Amino acid sequence: MQDTIKKFMKNKKKLHICLRGIIQLIYFLLIPSAYTAAFAGVKYLFTQIGAVEKIQWNSFLAILIVLCVYTIIFGRFFCGFACTFGSFGDALHWIYQKTCKKLKKKPIKISEKITGLLIYLKYIVLVAILILCYLGLYGNLQGSSPWDVFSMIHAGNLKLGAYTVGVVVLILLILGMCIQERFFCRFFCPMGAVFSILPVLPFFSLHRDREECLRGCKGCEKKCPVDVKLPNSGTMEVRGECIQCQKCIDTCPKSNVHCGVSKVRGNEFLFTIIRAMLLAGLLIWAGI
Ligand code: SF4
Ligand code: SF4
Ligand code: SF4
Repeated sequence: MQDTIKKFMKNKKKLHICLRGIIQLIYFLLIPSAYTAAFAGVKYLFTQIGAVEKIQWNSFLAILIVLCVYTIIFGRFFCGFACTFGSFGDALHWIYQKTCKKLKKKPIKISEKITGLLIYLKYIVLVAILILCYLGLYGNLQGSSPWDVFSMIHAGNLKLGAYTVGVVVLILLILGMCIQERFFCRFFCPMGAVFSILPVLPFFSLHRDREECLRGCKGCEKKCPVDVKLPNSGTMEVRGECIQCQKCIDTCPKSNVHCGVSKVRGNEFLFTIIRAMLLAGLLIWAGI
């Protein structure tokens, strides 16, 4: 009986990992521009404020508001499952890990001490961009955004002559994304900086029942791509850095990591589908 339960749990975890891959692929192919559209909303707001001009309702603002409200309620599910650039980074890191394994080489990894400091860089990037928008100078950076270059390549537009700086930055980021999981998300993404400072309601945060843990186990912490230490059972602590990728759920040998709503424990699979569909519906409604 115990063996059957173990087998069932293992298959459930595998299914959940496949589900994440499928959702990431669907968003990558069908809704690729939500992250740039949301950040365009942020830039638009600060440009208009700086120019003392009227803020007109547009689809960039609608997508920004949808993503922010969604993140406040559900956590950063968008980052974990639906952002094209995040998924691109996941794919690169996966390929790098597999290649190292095949070549029997130890993957390079940035130490936790350094990553702990680097996470503040994204706030500097965010503030710098907002100041430039406010001063009306952001247009001078035309051609230097790696997001623009990536979006153009994604759309099959390879006329990148005016984007040399952006291409170089993107190549450097690709190297970083290979060696460090969620390299761009953690250290440089201005939209990630916005999401991480949003208040998040505790209902869908992740936590673990510490008293049920295996002695000395740190599996969920080691697997976490952004080095979040899950809060213990009963706390309402929510961390803005958590990208809701749910890899901690999939890795726990005791199925001991859950979403915050106690009555839906064990239904993370169904919940993931509902959240993905709801997000897609909202983004389409907002005009993506
Ligand atoms: S942090 Fe930025 S790039 Fe990463 S998944 Fe979130 S919005 Fe996308
Ligand atoms: S705590 Fe879990 S869900 Fe959050 S980022 Fe880490 S592995 Fe992903
Ligand atoms: S992986 Fe599971 S058992 Fe291990 S520390 Fe995390 S929650 Fe506890």
